[in-house]
Amino acid sequence: MQSDVAQRFIFENTDIRGERVQLDSSLQEALAPHAYPQVIKDLLGELAAAAVLLSTTLKFEGRMTLQARSSGPVSLLMVECTNERTFRGVANWDEQLLSADSDLKALLPDGHLVITIDPNKGRRYQGLVPLEGETLADCFSSYFAQSEQLPTRFWLSCNGEQAGGFLLQALPAHKEMNAKASAARWEHVTVLAETLKDEELRGLATEELLHRLYHEEDVRLFDAEPVKYLCSCSRERTGSALMTVSPADIREMLEEQGQIDMDCQFCNTRYSFNEADISKLLGEGETRH
Ligand SMILES: [Zn+2]
Repeated sequence: MQSDVAQRFIFENTDIRGERVQLDSSLQEALAPHAYPQVIKDLLGELAAAAVLLSTTLKFEGRMTLQARSSGPVSLLMVECTNERTFRGVANWDEQLLSADSDLKALLPDGHLVITIDPNKGRRYQGLVPLEGETLADCFSSYFAQSEQLPTRFWLSCNGEQAGGFLLQALPAHKEMNAKASAARWEHVTVLAETLKDEELRGLATEELLHRLYHEEDVRLFDAEPVKYLCSCSRERTGSALMTVSPADIREMLEEQGQIDMDCQFCNTRYSFNEADISKLLGEGETRH
């Protein structure tokens, strides 16, 4: 069974689509470079599943970032995901403020989530999601409800090792023109999805899960798309980021520390730049023509 996948489905003869995401080894790879407490693993896994689900509802080529911030125990939860279904994530938290059984409101009080889409071509988009629900899934669902987008519901679960996500979305009327019938159908499929248990959301293969919920419906399941953990950092990119600092400051850091170490916040890879590397980056010592 493939377990790091995103899989789309539709209800035949209706205007309702859905998406299922399962993260397993990809999530474990993303969490491995960090010593996260259980609650952080759970939240980050849910956010990663949400990011992949969200990316499938949007037509873009490029990068989408979800950043949850608060002044509470968890100051940052961030997941970046691409249209190629790769993702990476990171979290910052205060160990002393963290308690094991905290809910979302306790972990991220007065928090908000910023959705940023950076398309390869075209304009950047940003949306703001207040973290007001009991769960991240509630926050995403109410974001769609409030922003007058297509009716969309999210279900998310993570146990620190596996994450599962499930999404239902009502598309504009196309096949079912009777608004009342269409609303009843939406109600029916979402009520059934409410019966999903956390372990089913994470562990069941999509086909089984859909059978369990919708065996009386005519559901068409599309091919699963693989989802991967991938950190896009590189020595070259890190060097370019360093060059946004003024040459004088770089020289000073170099003098103080002997070399400049830059750690990727996502994967913890360390990139070190010595005197010679810096001179090369600063374009010094090049022959002038
Ligand atoms: Zn990295």
